[in-house]
Formats: sequence, structure tokens, C-alpha cells
Amino acid sequence: MSREAAQNISAPPPAKSVYLLGGIYLNNTFTCKACGADVPLEGGGTENRNHCPKCLCSVHLDNVPGDRAADCGAVMDAVAVWVRKDGEWAVIHRCRRCGALSSNRIAADDSPFKLMSIAAKPLAQPPFPIEFIDRMSDDE
Ligand SMILES: [Zn+2]
Ligand SMILES: [Zn+2]
Repeated sequence: MSREAAQNISAPPPAKSVYLLGGIYLNNTFTCKACGADVPLEGGGTENRNHCPKCLCSVHLDNVPGDRAADCGAVMDAVAVWVRKDGEWAVIHRCRRCGALSSNRIAADDSPFKLMSIAAKPLAQPPFPIEFIDRMSDDE
């Protein structure tokens, strides 16, 4: 489906007043429901900004990215990052209320500190004593 067709499925919202990320989209900015940051919708190298560049939180609005079909509306925390085939990073969001997971491309202005801290978390908190790694490699 072309981008134009996808946009025509739902009627265009009243000018400059769209609920996005649980905040109100006014004058091309929205307010993050999780951290309260005012985020410009433009910039960041993405047309479909679906998470806050400061705290990386999203809001559970979509079942399929962009469809706005989820009834939940709760904040989604960024819980993991992964690297796509093309080397691009994506963030896994998990809904605080219903536990739904979704994967979203990162934007150019997403906080690199926040991204790195999410990526490093499993290494900083391994589920076993770190010295066990030695023994595991001996077994192979
Ligand atoms: Zn935020
Ligand atoms: Zn949810």
C-alpha cells in the first residue's frame, strides 16, 4: 500500500490537534506522557516519531505501527535495543499496563546515553556470577 493510501484510510485529524504519544500535538510539538518533555515532531530523521527522544518512552496506541488501533494508551518503556540487518538500531518497547511489545526504529536525535544504558544493562546485571563465564567456555 502506498504511503498516500495509508494516510487516507482514517480521515485527517482536525488541523494540528492530534493525540500522539498520549500528548497533544500542537504547533508541531507534543508533550511526552512519561517525562513531560516538549518534543518537536519534525527532525530526528523520521516521519513517524513514535517515542520520546529524551526518555525513549512510547505510548501504546498501535497494534501494527501507525494503525492507532490499540485501546490501551498506557506508557511503553524502552526495555531493549537490537540491531537490524542493515545495522540500524531499533528499540523494543514494552507496555507498562498490558505487557505488549513492539519494535521501533530509533531517531537521529534519540538520547545516545539512554540508548547505551539500555544496551549495557544486561551486561551490567548478568543473571549469573560473571566468573561463571570462564567455566562455561571450559566446557566447550
Ligand atoms: Zn519522554
Ligand atoms: Zn498496552
